[in-house]
Amino acid sequence: MGRRDATRWSGRWLALLVLIFWGGTGWAGEAQPLPRVAILAMGGTIAGAGQSATATTEYKAGVLDVGTLIASVPGLSQVARISGEQVANIDSAHITNELLLKLARRVNALLASGEVDGIVITHGTDTLEETAYFLNLVVEADGPVVLTGSMRPATAISADGPLNLYNAVVLAGSPRARGQGVLVALNERIDAARDVTKTHTTNVDTFRSPEFGCLGYVMNGQALLVKATTKRHTVSSEFRLKGIEAFPRVEILYGHGNDSRDLVDAALRAGARGIVHAGVGDGGSFPATYEALREARAKGVAVVRASRVGSGLVAPISDDEKDGMISSNTLNPQKARILLMLALTRTQDLKELRRIFEEY
Ligand code: ASP
Repeated sequence: MGRRDATRWSGRWLALLVLIFWGGTGWAGEAQPLPRVAILAMGGTIAGAGQSATATTEYKAGVLDVGTLIASVPGLSQVARISGEQVANIDSAHITNELLLKLARRVNALLASGEVDGIVITHGTDTLEETAYFLNLVVEADGPVVLTGSMRPATAISADGPLNLYNAVVLAGSPRARGQGVLVALNERIDAARDVTKTHTTNVDTFRSPEFGCLGYVMNGQALLVKATTKRHTVSSEFRLKGIEAFPRVEILYGHGNDSRDLVDAALRAGARGIVHAGVGDGGSFPATYEALREARAKGVAVVRASRVGSGLVAPISDDEKDGMISSNTLNPQKARILLMLALTRTQDLKELRRIFEEY
């Protein structure tokens, strides 16, 4: 190649590079800075490790630290400026109300600082929906908060954690996710914290919003929201954590045939201020159990009729008025516990409690 040819070629390369640069930044030539996303790690299977690559259900949750999780996701630094924090490293079955408070306070402080555009929380899947719903009620900003996790430990063949984390970061960095309430992103779906629940013990396709469906998808590095939740959340929530150090005790009791009053009485003796009864069908219960629940209410304990069925509305009935019961609306028992716990920090008034269960 002569000198003139070489000059022509380097000129072409330069033109190509300029084009690539402009294409990446927009024709205005202004580079869009990548969103700042903080990853708060709570543990779970996404940070879990097993003895072998085929050990998909025998492993220890909450082993790897947040730095290792971040390092395991190729391309993460191309979609966001990432920071990582270890809030806890537990199996999510071990979560406490104190940890919920600690996490929520950290989320609120980070969003208020203006130092992040969005937050991802990596969390064990077993109680992920409870933490997500709690945050949905107490986060004070509309900056995206996205929970994710995985069903297979990090050491497994086809571990689902890295893609879930990548997608959660994409979502948390997306302006489209602002103001949508706390979101849950696993297995390429986006779900509302209020509606989503774990539906399968071991499968990667476990998070679903029965009856209501998902809010959207994250695929190919893009977040697509197709609808929004209508319930109150985050900035429009009346629940704030200022001054709260602990929550009133709320128990969940599981209904079944040949039930008794004994567990209701035990809950009262243990100091429960609220009971969520995961009733049969449309929130029904065995006569002796119902009698004990009625008596508990008469003593000032808040009683929510929920259902063990897993989807559908627990329809308010005339007996609720007579006996002072509260319908859980479409909340499952574990989320009804979260809402009742927060509601009882504000009011004991039955009408108010019923309003809260309709609005959230
Ligand atoms: N036991 C685990 C946990 O919830 C399960 C998981 O993360 O998938 O921490």
